[in-house]
Amino acid sequence: TADPQVTTGAMAFRGKNAVVTGGAGGIGLQVARQLLVAGAGVAIIDIQDNLEEFVKLRAAHPTQSVMIIKMDVANKKGVEATYEEIKKTFGSIDIVVNVAGIFNDKDVQRTLLVNLGGIINSSLSALQYMSKEHGGNGGIVVNMSSVVGLDPMFIIPVYGATKAGIISFTRCLGNDKFYQRSGIRFATVCPGATMTDMFTNFTEKIIFPETSDETYKILDRLSKQSVTDVARCILNVLEKEKNGAVYVIEGKRIIPIDMKPHWTGKEPAL
Ligand code: NAD
Ligand code: MG
Repeated sequence: TADPQVTTGAMAFRGKNAVVTGGAGGIGLQVARQLLVAGAGVAIIDIQDNLEEFVKLRAAHPTQSVMIIKMDVANKKGVEATYEEIKKTFGSIDIVVNVAGIFNDKDVQRTLLVNLGGIINSSLSALQYMSKEHGGNGGIVVNMSSVVGLDPMFIIPVYGATKAGIISFTRCLGNDKFYQRSGIRFATVCPGATMTDMFTNFTEKIIFPETSDETYKILDRLSKQSVTDVARCILNVLEKEKNGAVYVIEGKRIIPIDMKPHWTGKEPAL
């Protein structure tokens, strides 16, 4: 199959090197593919290596750097070592898109460690290997949340909690005080339901199975967007370079979300 068309300027990311976690499947694979089409070098970090797709990416982009490293994003030391290897191979890292995530509300510990822990591990490693303070060029990190991190969906509270946590973590690192030192911008994306394998066997992975009838109806009613459209929107967010921004991705569009402060007790400068 042909590579999807990127709406952004052709070769808009030429000369840039990107890391994509969860890039061996689903949304992450499309992000990796579109970044290659836009001219970037791409390193995929994923718990599965998906060599078949890797061979295809290599063949379609023979003059660009493509690598895939099999690593669990929940493994902090392993993620650090992986970044070190990528930096050594690529020379610099300019873009990180943290997509790796799972759905299994019955396995609370694993969900927290992969979804929230994985984003934290990879973001902190990105800071270490991209920051101007440590000889890097700065760049941009985009972290994958979900609309359920903004609007609670009662059937998936554990998954939703990790996605809400990702928004808060990424907005903290997206403070301009960090940017002035590191040269790295942080943004969060919150896609609505997307057609992937993530919600396969859904009713076996929810903690309130008594809601499963209702759950099926809710799942059926959701309008689901394609991974290609979501990936295209993520490239658009990379181009916008807006530090601290949070976007919903829905209907082929990125919608910036106004995150209003609720607490009035704190000094405005903080
Ligand atoms: P997917 O299951 O198709 O892809 C997830 C990828 O992450 C796979 O390649 C998988 O191997 C990898 N991965 C899983 N655990 C990992 C780990 N511990 N370490 C490294 N890699 C790991 O799922 P998807 O639907 O493409 O989801 C990707 C991201 O998008 C997730 O964070 C998900 O929460 C988020 N998201 C999905 C939807 C949706 O409706 N599908 C909506 C909003 C947000
Ligand atoms: Mg994916």
